[in-house]
Amino acid sequence: MELVLASGNRGKVREFQEAFGSELKALDEVITPFYIEESADTFAGNAVIKAKAVYEKVGNNYIVISDDSGISVDALGGEPGIYSARYAGKGASDRDNLQKMINTLKSKGLDESKAHYTASVAIISRYGIYVVHGWMYGKVIAEIRGDGGFGYDPAFIPDGFDKTLGELPSSVKSKFSHRTRAIKLAKPIIDMLKNIKG
Ligand code: IMP
Repeated sequence: MELVLASGNRGKVREFQEAFGSELKALDEVITPFYIEESADTFAGNAVIKAKAVYEKVGNNYIVISDDSGISVDALGGEPGIYSARYAGKGASDRDNLQKMINTLKSKGLDESKAHYTASVAIISRYGIYVVHGWMYGKVIAEIRGDGGFGYDPAFIPDGFDKTLGELPSSVKSKFSHRTRAIKLAKPIIDMLKNIKG
C-alpha cells in the first residue's frame, strides 16, 4: 500500500518526510487538493475528517495519514486551539494568525503566556482508523523572533530553552515536537499496516 499525507502544508510535509522519507507523498503529488470542512470540535475529530475525505478519493490502495494540529495559549483560554489555521479568519496566512495571537496577548497587557502545541495524527486504511496524539509544552512571547519553522514557531519557546523555534535549528524541534511524538506512535502502526499480507 502507498502512503499519502492528507495535507499540502509544506511545514507538515517536511516534518513527516523526515520520518517516512519520500515514500510518503504530499497530497498534491497524488491528487488535486480540495477543500475539506473541518467541522469537528477536537483535533482528533478534524484529523479523522481530513483523512476520511482523502481516503474516499484515493481508494483502498492507500494508507492515508492526516495531521490536525495547533497551539493552545493558556492566557487566551486555550485559543486559538483547533482554530489555529484560521485564527485571523478563513484563508488567513500563517503570519496573519501569528500576528493576531501576538496582538491579542498585547491587548491583555501580556508579553508572554504558557502554551502548548497538540498534534492529532489519524491513519486510515482498508483495515480501519487509528488516531494518536503528541504534545509540546512551553510559552509564547508577544514578539516574532527568527524565521525558522512555520506557523506560530517564531513566537514559541519550548520548555528548557531560551530561544524560539524560529531561532533554533529544525533538528532541535524535530527531537521533541508534538508532531514528532505523534509520528513516533504512528510509525509502528503504519509499518504494521504496510506488512499485513492479504
Ligand atoms: P491544520 O492544518 O488545520 O492542522 O492547522 C494547523 C495550524 O496550527 C497551522 O496553520 C499552524 O498555524 C499551527 N501549527 C500546527 N503545528 C505547528 C507547528 O509545528 N509549528 C507552528 N505552527 C503549527
